[in-house]
This record gives sequence, structure tokens and C-alpha cells, in this order.
Amino acid sequence: MHPEDLKILRICVECRQRFIFHSDWEDHQVETGHFSIKKYDLISGEMIISLDNRISESI
Ligand SMILES: [Zn+2]
Repeated sequence: MHPEDLKILRICVECRQRFIFHSDWEDHQVETGHFSIKKYDLISGEMIISLDNRISESI
């Protein structure tokens, strides 16, 4: 289990699908080619500025 599982809600920027498990998100990347994700703290509901986002926005 990934350390962020059940703490971080991931939402795919491209299709708005939600993921609680990191492994589900990895499968989604492979299946769809979607790589942009937004992360939210599951407890506070606040958006987390992730390294993933910074990379995808700077390209
Ligand atoms: Zn997607």
C-alpha cells in the first residue's frame, strides 16, 4: 500500500475520475495515457500543490 493511500484524493485533470489508491491512478495512466492529476487532502479537502502538477504545467 502506498503511504498516501486513504489520505490523498487524486482527480484526473483530463477525465475527472477520482482515485483513492495510488495503484489505481498508475493503472489509469497506463490505460488512458492521462498524466495530469490534482491532489486533495482527504481530511481537510484542501488542494495539494503536487510536484506532478508543476511538471505537467511547465511543459
Ligand atoms: Zn483520466
